[in-house]
Amino acid sequence: MKNLDPRYNDIPKTEIHVHLEGAIRTQTIIDIAREYGLKLPSYEASELDRRIKVYDQLRDLETVLKAFEIFQNSVASPKVVERIAWELFEDSAKQNIKLLEVRFSPDWAFSGHNLNWDACLEGLLRAKVRAESKFDMAIGYIAITSRSRGPESCVKTVDWAIRHRERIPAIDLADSERDFPLRDFVPSILKAKEAGLKVTIHTGEDTPASFVKETIELASPDRIGHGIRAIEDMKVVELIKERGIALEVNPWSNYLTNSVRTIEEHPLKKLFDLGVKTTINSDDPEVLETNLNNEYRIAHEVLGMSMEEIAVCNRYAYEASFIPEDEKKRVWQAYFQ
Ligand SMILES: [Zn+2]
Repeated sequence: MKNLDPRYNDIPKTEIHVHLEGAIRTQTIIDIAREYGLKLPSYEASELDRRIKVYDQLRDLETVLKAFEIFQNSVASPKVVERIAWELFEDSAKQNIKLLEVRFSPDWAFSGHNLNWDACLEGLLRAKVRAESKFDMAIGYIAITSRSRGPESCVKTVDWAIRHRERIPAIDLADSERDFPLRDFVPSILKAKEAGLKVTIHTGEDTPASFVKETIELASPDRIGHGIRAIEDMKVVELIKERGIALEVNPWSNYLTNSVRTIEEHPLKKLFDLGVKTTINSDDPEVLETNLNNEYRIAHEVLGMSMEEIAVCNRYAYEASFIPEDEKKRVWQAYFQ
C-alpha cells in the first residue's frame, strides 16, 4: 500500500532500483490510451487498477511479468516516455527521495510501438533536467537488457548504452533467470564493463544462492538486484561481502512474487546484520502498489530495523550509486549529513 506517513516521508531517501515501466500511474495509462486510441480492459481507474496491479501474493514471478503487457503498450511515443519519467520524479520528490536511479528496458519498452530509442532518451533527459532543478534531486538512468529478448537484444542494448555512456552510465540484466541462462549474456556484459559502464544484475530473487554465486563469478557485477536468496548459503554471503557488492533489496516485491513465503520472513535485516551492503527500494511502485515509504515501514515495523540502520542502507546506496560522483555528493552533503 502507498504510504505517506510523515515518519517515513520526511526522511531524505535514496532509491536505486525502480523500473520506469512499473511506475506508470493508472490515470496516465488511461489518458494515453484515449490520446493514442489504445485498447484497455477498462477506462475507469479503479476498475483498471484491478487488472494491472498486484495486491496479493502470487504463485510465481511470471504472472507479474504478464501484468506488464498493458504497461508496455502504453509507451506510445517519446512524449509519453518523458511524461511517465516526469511523473515518477514527481512521485519520488513527494517522498523526499533525493538520489534516484531509474532503469528501463529500451528493447522492451520502446518496441511495443517501434519507437526510436534516441528520441525516447531525449525525452528521458528532458524530464531528468527539469526534475533535478525543480526538486533538487540527483537522477541517474540504467539501461536494462531483458533476458527474454535474447542475446542479440543484449548486444544491441549494450552497444546503445555504450554510445550514450555519458547519459547512461550503467546496464542491468533483468528478467527470468531460470529460462535464460546467464552465460548467453556474459560476452555483452563484459564488453559493457570494458567500455566503462557499471553493471547490476537481477539474481537470487526467486532462484537459489547458486545463481548469485555463478553471476558473481562469471560477470562480476558492481551491484545485484535482489540477491536475497544468498542468505541460504553463507559462502555466497561471504563472497558478496568480499567483493563489496551492494544488494538492491525490494521487500514488498519479493513478498508479492513469492520469493519469500511471508513478509516477516524477509531476510533484509539478516543480510544487513551479517554485514552485507543492503539497500531498500520499491522495484515497481505502481504495479505492486507500493512506494519507498512503504518499504521503509516494512523494514522498520515488520523486520525490526532501527531508523539508524535504515540510514546506513541509505549510505550504502549513495556509495554504490552509479550517478557521477560530483552530482551524488552534492545531494548527499545537502540532505543526508
Ligand atoms: Zn527489478
